[in-house]
Amino acid sequence: MQRLRQIVIAGGGSAGWMTAAALSSLLDPKDVSITLVESDEIGTIGVGEATIPDVINFNRMLGLNEQEFMKATNATFKLGIEFIDWGRKGDAYIHPFSVHGVDMQGIDFHNYWLHERAGGGQHPIQHYSLCAVAASAGKFTLPDPNPRSLLSHIRYAYHFDAVLYARYLRAYAEARGVRRVEGKIQHVPQAPESGNLVALQLDHGREVSGDFFFDCTGFRALLIEKILGVPYVDWSRWLPCNSALAVPCRHAGALLPYTRATARTAGWQWRIPTQQRTGNGHIYCREFMGDDEAAAMLLANLDGEALGEPRQIRFTAGHRQTFWAKNCVAIGLSAGFLEPLESTSIYLIQEGISRFISLFPDATLPEVVRGEYNRHMRTEFEQVRDFIVLHFSATERDDTPFWNYCRTMDIPDSLRHKISLFREAARVFRYEEELFSRPSWVAVLLGQNIVPTRCDPIVAALPQAAVRESLESMRVAMANAAQAMPSHQDFIRRYCPAGAP
Ligand SMILES: Cc1cc2nc3c(=O)[nH]c(=O)nc-3n(C[C@H](O)[C@H](O)[C@H](O)COP(=O)(O)OP(=O)(O)OC[C@H]3O[C@@H](n4cnc5c(N)ncnc54)[C@H](O)[C@@H]3O)c2cc1C
Repeated sequence: MQRLRQIVIAGGGSAGWMTAAALSSLLDPKDVSITLVESDEIGTIGVGEATIPDVINFNRMLGLNEQEFMKATNATFKLGIEFIDWGRKGDAYIHPFSVHGVDMQGIDFHNYWLHERAGGGQHPIQHYSLCAVAASAGKFTLPDPNPRSLLSHIRYAYHFDAVLYARYLRAYAEARGVRRVEGKIQHVPQAPESGNLVALQLDHGREVSGDFFFDCTGFRALLIEKILGVPYVDWSRWLPCNSALAVPCRHAGALLPYTRATARTAGWQWRIPTQQRTGNGHIYCREFMGDDEAAAMLLANLDGEALGEPRQIRFTAGHRQTFWAKNCVAIGLSAGFLEPLESTSIYLIQEGISRFISLFPDATLPEVVRGEYNRHMRTEFEQVRDFIVLHFSATERDDTPFWNYCRTMDIPDSLRHKISLFREAARVFRYEEELFSRPSWVAVLLGQNIVPTRCDPIVAALPQAAVRESLESMRVAMANAAQAMPSHQDFIRRYCPAGAP
């Protein structure tokens, strides 16, 4: 069997260094060389601070020490996302990483909650999620490995400095034999018959040849688009935001263990607390708001003093028609972009890398392997898209032209089906290893005021008092468990203070 011998990664942002780190943890450098080409002059996008719990699996696969990694990247813990003003102005809900309550007799918890609500229950569903309760109280502790403990419900991710994360992974990859080459890619020759990429030709006349390439060049998409001509599938009719302004600010108040996403008049604003500053950004649609107005709105809504001028980024929501073409896989922003409302970009990078590894080809690059990779990544992007579109489309807001557009826009059939199934039958199903679990869908559907008209008929037949009693004991247990946790700030100070050895 002919094997791949020379892997070349174009680009050294989070995507490039995550790819390099993962491959170097698996491949012997004596067997397969890995070279990464990046240009300091071009630099990286420099945003991407919020993650979802799957990033822990990636770090574990690399064998990273959590405390060391968190100290090196200014990381904090994240228990979920708080959404403000989305369904209606004045609304607030948390999409937590943990489940709500406990499923009973094989029936999803939210049915019991709906039954209780129909009988006059007042508590929002998030009062039954340990992560949501702890997040609201600014508390944190690590999950208890004992599955009988309530603290085993804790699921978390990180907020971190994306530039420091890439730097950390660079040190990891270089220690495992990855060669970094500084320079600007100028030409990419192709084999005359196959069209496969042969080498990256850099400024100053250097050349890096390879038999397999990763395009991690960000929005430039140098290999997959400029050389291989793979078109982009534009999803802006469902996700119309196309601009971002990002600026960090000083902390004001305690370090909170969650991301906040606040809906604005033509988009939304994020707030992401890392240890040494708060990351902020305003995502908006240029057709509905000018850049100056967007910048003024961002700066008027910071928790503390801005640390610099807002940085502008333009984008189009969507993905590459094929993620793997010829002998090149696009990973990161070159593969596609969905706005960071649910912090999914780093996850999609990780998924691209893991799926490639699980399909690792020999040098013949079988067409069936390429096809499977493309099918899987397309499904991943579509499923994440539906979840994000839900936040915009399931709104009652009619106070601005942007929200009127979102409220009345056509939505993908797959999402329409999911909403109908929930609204009319209180059911949510997870298809094809879908990223977002049932509790995530339930949190956002209810948070956006899509409340089922009926609950599971078996639950509906249960006596109201018995359901009320078991829900109340769960709610009190969650509240007590959260109360007993240390504050997130104290936990960070003890566990992983930035800059400490
Ligand atoms: C506004 C915004 C907010 C985001 N927030 C989040 C978030 O909260 N969570 C999350 O998971 N993700 C987020 N993301 C996505 C995240 O930033 C990216 O997915 C991630 O940083 C990966 O970027 P990248 O490595 O693909 O591209 P980049 O960081 O742009 O890196 C591209 C690399 O290619 C190199 N390069 C390009 N052209 C050449 C050339 N000609 N020669 C040599 N080198 C070249 C550059 O030097 C650089 O090293 C956000 C993105 C945006 C736009």
